[in-house]
Amino acid sequence: HRFNVTCAPVQGTFGRGAVICFRDVTELRQLDQMRRDFVANVSHELRTPLTAILGFIETLQGPARNDPQAQERFLSTMADEASRMNRLVGDLLSLSKVEEVSRMRPTDAVNLGDLVRSVVRNLMPLATDAGSTLDFLAPGGAMIVPGDSDQLMQVVTNLIENALKYGGQGTHVTIRLDEVERDRSLRGPAICLSVKDNGPGIDPVHIPRLTERFYRIDSHRSREMGGTGLGLAIVKHIINRHRGRMAIESAPGEGSTFRVFLPKL
Ligand code: ADP
Repeated sequence: HRFNVTCAPVQGTFGRGAVICFRDVTELRQLDQMRRDFVANVSHELRTPLTAILGFIETLQGPARNDPQAQERFLSTMADEASRMNRLVGDLLSLSKVEEVSRMRPTDAVNLGDLVRSVVRNLMPLATDAGSTLDFLAPGGAMIVPGDSDQLMQVVTNLIENALKYGGQGTHVTIRLDEVERDRSLRGPAICLSVKDNGPGIDPVHIPRLTERFYRIDSHRSREMGGTGLGLAIVKHIINRHRGRMAIESAPGEGSTFRVFLPKL
């Protein structure tokens, strides 16, 4: 622990003395350090594509001035880098929106069955392009939770996109919705959304840290896949706002299952 210590002289009935005051500032220091790390991370993440773009501009103005083929190639790479910055800014805005604790908790009645079905439909072309499959299994009956449908859609999208991205070519992704009669941590009935892939799986040492902002197992692969490192941090915050919880089950060589439990309406 870290303490701020202040000392003041006092004059009392028993003579002169001193009051020494210890203030525990461990948490404040940690918060301050987290804020600084975050700013450093964001700056680094923005600077990398920006440096690349500046480099290409210089080449376009100089050596590639009269080379239409090189110009086309550089412009297309510059467009990719700019999209990366755009995705990062979009994810940062989403994160700051869902992190705001003071915001009202979402209360609309959301039909998870319909929501998941529409996300699966949207992502089907992405899966097909990678030779992967998406299967959605849901028992009958309405799966209604109190929530914000845009945010829940983001949760489902991020989890399925990750399964496709990190599962690799030809992965099988299975999405399920199940009713849970009583979830012990949520202390009541819940709906469980699970997204399972048969990709390479995750070493257990990484699992507790996956929802930290900018935590990636393989930064190069994440960047190559268009990841910002914020996807699971956003997922975690949205689930917290919905008073739910997430469980990650994975082992190297055995694929991964991400489960989200949300209190039932
Ligand atoms: P990113 O933008 O890098 O995808 P995320 O926050 O969504 O960031 O995920 C954090 C890291 O967790 C990823 O970089 C990846 O290493 C790992 N990860 C997430 N989902 C899976 C998965 N289904 N299989 C294997 N690794 C995964």
